[in-house]
Amino acid sequence: MEKTLSIIKPDGVSRGLIGEVISRFEKNKIKIIAMKMIHMTKIQAQGFYAVHKERPFFGSLTDFMSSGPVVVMVLEGDKVISNNRELMGATNYKDAAPGTIRADFATEIEKNVVHGSDSPQSAAFEIGFFFNSFEIAG
Ligand code: UDP
Ligand code: MG
Repeated sequence: MEKTLSIIKPDGVSRGLIGEVISRFEKNKIKIIAMKMIHMTKIQAQGFYAVHKERPFFGSLTDFMSSGPVVVMVLEGDKVISNNRELMGATNYKDAAPGTIRADFATEIEKNVVHGSDSPQSAAFEIGFFFNSFEIAG
């Protein structure tokens, strides 16, 4: 069974979309095996998104991700990394397929409601960034 990290970003939490996002996972046979709400510091957001540190959007993205509480989850399932990315939709909500979370709810390329790991390597790093083994019920 594969694992991936999901985040409901500050826009998703503040707009009351926690239940909506979780219900999409549950309807699509994606199991939640760890979950918590946290409010990242700017430094933590910079660490999480270190892979993007040279990108022009890094400063704004890490301000946004540390602007309010987020819900972080470990998801488990067959091909869950790509299945979750499919449910999320493209990074830019304008390109996201109809019926995806981002197409339905995102308001800006940055404020796109959810994060999902994009590879087994990033999933391992991102899960370990937020959770220790005692916090994962899988
Ligand atoms: N982002 C942005 N401007 C861009 C590209 C990305 O603000 O031009 C933000 C957006 O919130 C995105 C995050 O940075 O979700 C991480 O970018 P990535 O390319 O990893 O997209 P994702 O994997 O989230 O689809
Ligand atoms: Mg990414």
